Amino acid sequence: MAKTELIGLSKEEIAQEIAKIGEKPFRAKQLWQWLYLKGVTDFDKMSNLSKELRAKLKENYSITRPKIVAEQISKDKTHKWLLEFSDGQRIETVYIPEEDRGAVCISTQVGCAVGCKFCHTGSQKITRNLTAGEIVSQFMVARDAYQEWPTPTDETRYLSNIVVMGMGEPLHNPENVVKALKILSDGEGIAISKRKITLSTSGIAPKIPLVATDIGVKLAISLHAPNNEKRSQIMPINDRYPLEEVMKACQEYQRLSGHNRFITFEYLMLKDFNDTPDDAHELIELMKKYKIGAKFNLIPFNPWPGCSYEPSSNNRVRAFSKLLEDAGYEAPIRVARGQDILAACGQLKSKKSLD
Ligand code: SF4
Repeated sequence: MAKTELIGLSKEEIAQEIAKIGEKPFRAKQLWQWLYLKGVTDFDKMSNLSKELRAKLKENYSITRPKIVAEQISKDKTHKWLLEFSDGQRIETVYIPEEDRGAVCISTQVGCAVGCKFCHTGSQKITRNLTAGEIVSQFMVARDAYQEWPTPTDETRYLSNIVVMGMGEPLHNPENVVKALKILSDGEGIAISKRKITLSTSGIAPKIPLVATDIGVKLAISLHAPNNEKRSQIMPINDRYPLEEVMKACQEYQRLSGHNRFITFEYLMLKDFNDTPDDAHELIELMKKYKIGAKFNLIPFNPWPGCSYEPSSNNRVRAFSKLLEDAGYEAPIRVARGQDILAACGQLKSKKSLD
């Protein structure tokens, strides 16, 4: 009989499995902590479980990490893994370190159906959704690499944040993403605070409110253009969910979050396409119209082989940022990270090997 994989099971499901093999309920908590607090992958190391229980677990269950096919560390210490799951499908996960903390950027699908024109992943068709376990285990691989087990206190963590911005559109896989983020934020396990998790979407409007109601994490919108005409040119999803719908869904997210959560609008700076002062003014008008508590993240474009867009000049990006800031919005310019290993935003792809 095939063994049941434990990584990706919710607390309730672990409790059910423990009941199924005739063990007392408190064993579920112990097992949960071995898996998610201590990161143990070997049943024999679960020292507070009886020998008999360990034998039962070994017989019926598995604890699997994805296979690391390749990994690269860039000059700026950005760390990228090419991971393979049991069916041979591959995705990329990236750790982006800051001085004393850092974010793990996780993927949610193999490929992506949204097809943004500027995105390397988008040029690769969707193959399948990742399971909750496959999403959670990406973070666990990063923790293994930096030996952050058991879960350290907040102050001492290098892997302090999670950004759901890797391959795939998370709101095209909401069930597994919700389940995975609940596991990752559980205080008795991996314990990444919801305030330190950001889910980024291309704007699947009907699903945006669930980021507040079902998960309670921060929201980022890949906006990249100030009007429907331009946005549809680079993001075909805009024809399905135009800006009006996306902005209304953002209002709803903020209402449901108690109006105290700013939404980050990601804005990729593309030369002569969306980077003029007129574009900045139109963007400001859009935010004012919908009264969104917003901040911007201006992203210098990282070209990849075969793409047809060019990055804006530094002067253009700075001028654009200043216009937004003069209007009262935070608009930092993101420092490109991991460019030399194609680990920067929009560059991920599950190729056969890392090049
Ligand atoms: S930017 Fe995100 S949503 Fe768009 S194609 Fe790339 S992975 Fe998909």
